[in-house]
Amino acid sequence: MSTRAEFRCRCGEVRGVVTDASPRTANRVVCYCGDCQAFVHKLGRADLLDAHAGSDIVQVAPASLAFVQGQDRIRGLRLASKGLYRWYASCCDTPVGNTLTPAVPFVGIFASAFDQGAQRADDVFGPPTGAIQGKHAVGGAPPGSTGIKLSLILRALGKIFSWRLRGKAWPHPFFARDRDAPIYPLDVLSRDEREALRAYCGPHPTAQA
Ligand SMILES: [Zn+2]
Ligand SMILES: [Zn+2]
Repeated sequence: MSTRAEFRCRCGEVRGVVTDASPRTANRVVCYCGDCQAFVHKLGRADLLDAHAGSDIVQVAPASLAFVQGQDRIRGLRLASKGLYRWYASCCDTPVGNTLTPAVPFVGIFASAFDQGAQRADDVFGPPTGAIQGKHAVGGAPPGSTGIKLSLILRALGKIFSWRLRGKAWPHPFFARDRDAPIYPLDVLSRDEREALRAYCGPHPTAQA
């Protein structure tokens, strides 16, 4: 089985490759949190959410991911001055990676970005290992998605810790090592912009996507 997985934005301009791709080297979880929903609505890409507004995310080591085309289209968005950096392809508003700073090394990518030609995310990474933040899901929490998911948290932390320990934070696809700063242009939403997006998010959206 190949361990090299390609992904691309919707229009195909931004392309990346994940090496050493397998269920063992990744962490795939569906997240129903409001921030993940808000980001997707900000991009106008509600089509990426599942029936309960979940984001199906594959987390990989930063050093395993490299962009091979369209880097000049990549931009970042933060919902606030703290929290995740959410990177996207500005050509077609497709998310291409959620990160924190390289001190907490991981990159989370929508699983659907890996469905390319004969390649299927399910075959490469296996199905999601679980779901989190179900209390924010739209239309009721899917089974098993609520409460503290200790095994999922430990699995995610274990991966991040081992990536850090084994030097898999660098090279980082979104940060320059010499400056320890983002490579790509970055916008931070104002409080008003962020709050305006809440109307589209679960558990009870008041605006139509
Ligand atoms: Zn694109
Ligand atoms: Zn989330």
